[in-house]
Amino acid sequence: MYTANPERYDTMKFNRTGRSGLLLPAISLGLWHNFGGNDVFENGRAMVRRAFDLGITHFDLANNYGPPAGSAEESFGQMLKKDLAPYRDELIISSKAGYYMWPGPYGEWGSKKYLVSSLDQSLKRMGLDYVDIYYHHRPDPNTPLEETMSALDLLVRQGKALYVGLSNYRPEEAREAAQILRRLGTPCLIHQPNYSMMSRWIEDGLQDVLEEEGIGTIAFSPLQKGILTDRYLNGIAADSRAAGPSVFLSEKELTPEVLAKVGKLNEIAAARGQKMSQLALSWVLRGGKVTSALIGASKISQIEDAVASLNAPELSAEELEQIETILRG
Ligand code: NDP
Repeated sequence: MYTANPERYDTMKFNRTGRSGLLLPAISLGLWHNFGGNDVFENGRAMVRRAFDLGITHFDLANNYGPPAGSAEESFGQMLKKDLAPYRDELIISSKAGYYMWPGPYGEWGSKKYLVSSLDQSLKRMGLDYVDIYYHHRPDPNTPLEETMSALDLLVRQGKALYVGLSNYRPEEAREAAQILRRLGTPCLIHQPNYSMMSRWIEDGLQDVLEEEGIGTIAFSPLQKGILTDRYLNGIAADSRAAGPSVFLSEKELTPEVLAKVGKLNEIAAARGQKMSQLALSWVLRGGKVTSALIGASKISQIEDAVASLNAPELSAEELEQIETILRG
């Protein structure tokens, strides 16, 4: 029987999500990779337990996480049943719908039909009555925003989600969606974009919108899927994402230019007594604009590294400038 570490809240840092009442841990764990039906269940289970023991209260899922699609939610449902169910009120569990999930015209994008059906399926897979955050996973150019946002509002009113969020929305779409949601009486809690040293599009408008609208930010792939770690500094590690079956990180992304930059950034990390991955997290969380860094992990030690990064001193103006110079390189 699992009993959670009684000291789990002693060191984790919690940040307010936008102008809401919800605090999120500075590090959250996503189950996109390594928690599917093709992965080793006990490894995922051990990582989730360790994460919770370190104060990570937020676990991020989506209908399509696996592979096969849906299996990460099923596995997480088993972990809840075996270990975490007694702690349900200490957990923030999210899911999403937007990408392809089932055949026919109602299995992807942003219709009310899809969002409502998909959340019902997600709840069943996880064995939950409600999720804490339900996201529209990507904007749908062909469905009126009013319809998608009113589906999110409906699900909150039905008690199937406590809060709603947007993912991958561009600045102007995010602003419009937030305004519709506010009008409906279900304010947008959070936006989930990709943000890392190597993917900085949110600095060009989105961060301003989120600040103005009082919406929190949870940065996905803050380690750029593993590129901003020591994983690839000496060749492609055999047990890494790039070497594995995932189609989301290929060797092609690991160009000599990219790796040369990571090598130089790694020197800055070392000078601070950090690992490369820890520097990347300190950078994403710098200045307090990002509510939570949403990491992935294949091993317990990676989660420990991430949480330990919160003890590092803030990056100095000089270090930030050195980093900019390398990234511009
Ligand atoms: P990261 O950028 O954090 O990459 C995680 C990978 O980095 C790990 O799987 C591991 O790779 C490597 N890594 C992590 N820590 C370390 C370490 N200390 N040392 C060395 N390597 C390390 O995030 P992900 O790309 O996994 O995405 C995180 C989450 O974001 C997802 O699970 C999901 O919840 C969310 N997401 C949301 C999307 C959206 O559209 N909303 C899209 C993508 C992700 P390895 O496996 O090689 O060990």
